Amino acid sequence: MAQVIYDHVTKRFDGVIAVNDLTLEVKDGEFLVLVGPSGCGKTTALRCLAGLEEVTSGDIIIGDRVVTHVPPKDRDIAMVFQNYALYPHMTVYENMAFGLKLRKVPKQEIDRRVKEVAEMLGIQDLLNRKPRQLSGGQRQRVALGRAIVREPQVFLMDEPLSNLDAKLRVQTRGELIKLQRRLGVTTIYVTHDQVEAMTMGHRIAVMNQGVLQQLDTPENLYDHPANLFVATFIGSPAMNIFPARVVVGDGTVRLVAGDVTLEAAPEQRNRLAEYSNREVLVGIRPEDLIVQPGQVSVDRQLRLPVEIVEPLGSETLVHLRGPAGTIIAKADPHVHFSVGELAAVTVKVEHLHAFDPQTELALF
Ligand code: ATP
Repeated sequence: MAQVIYDHVTKRFDGVIAVNDLTLEVKDGEFLVLVGPSGCGKTTALRCLAGLEEVTSGDIIIGDRVVTHVPPKDRDIAMVFQNYALYPHMTVYENMAFGLKLRKVPKQEIDRRVKEVAEMLGIQDLLNRKPRQLSGGQRQRVALGRAIVREPQVFLMDEPLSNLDAKLRVQTRGELIKLQRRLGVTTIYVTHDQVEAMTMGHRIAVMNQGVLQQLDTPENLYDHPANLFVATFIGSPAMNIFPARVVVGDGTVRLVAGDVTLEAAPEQRNRLAEYSNREVLVGIRPEDLIVQPGQVSVDRQLRLPVEIVEPLGSETLVHLRGPAGTIIAKADPHVHFSVGELAAVTVKVEHLHAFDPQTELALF
């Protein structure tokens, strides 16, 4: 069993708490993505697991061993870095074989493993080249190959795709997912890219300012963000947020923001009623707004002015002037919008989110 446990791990650098009381369990065989904005502590959390940073307090467990004070080489992990960290003077073969040689694995066994993994990654024809004779994508594969031949209990990856161009990144992302599912090795993957996080991870741990915000499946993070930070970090364009007053009437609960009024769905009423006559922060994802050009008018629709139109090909982003700043809606790319016109907007109320303005925790 190669589960990984962070048990109340804190890492302080003088003055900075990079990782703050992190408790997290990664299951055997799981692909867990650590995601968050720059400086949130994700790399430090990974380096603590690798043993490259000494934790200030707390424990780290790999498999059934407490490794908190075990040196990196004895932790049975393999790490793939952003810059690949290949040895420039060694061939691809030697780079892949190096870690095994250090561990005194018999030569024949090394040869078998290197060739098998090279084949798996499609780099069998590059084994005699030096890293400088390889493209970025090929180097990335070699770095990955070097980790795989070690047959570690856990793979640690720190933004391994960030040096690849956009197309290759998408392709390699898919290959990495397949490879991880096939090998079934517990993997912890750090990225600041939420698309990578959403597509690759069985589960995602979202961090901010050293603190774990939410640990959940991609679907749950998207549909049920635990707080305002997660709600606005996951999703592109970001969830629209605006303050609204809760007005409780007989049998209805309304959310009032400027001259916009939304009637809450039945299952949202009880929670919102606790905020009667107070403000909450309302969240709406861009795809939960149905937007049409102004001449179409249906009862109970909002009318909001169009500020900017961004045709992206597969969809069009329409920026609308909302009650408290811009609201972005995703629209059918075949429908034409003009800047300045009034658009008719329908809100899928059952998909609304609401947050406590003080704690920023989700109400539902
Ligand atoms: P990025 O995506 O930019 O790499 P990150 O989420 O990986 O960011 P970390 O590199 O873990 O963030 O850094 C977390 C915090 O700890 C930051 O405030 C950073 O400045 C600080 N930090 C990291 N390493 C050190 C160090 N060796 N000495 C002092 N402070 C550090």
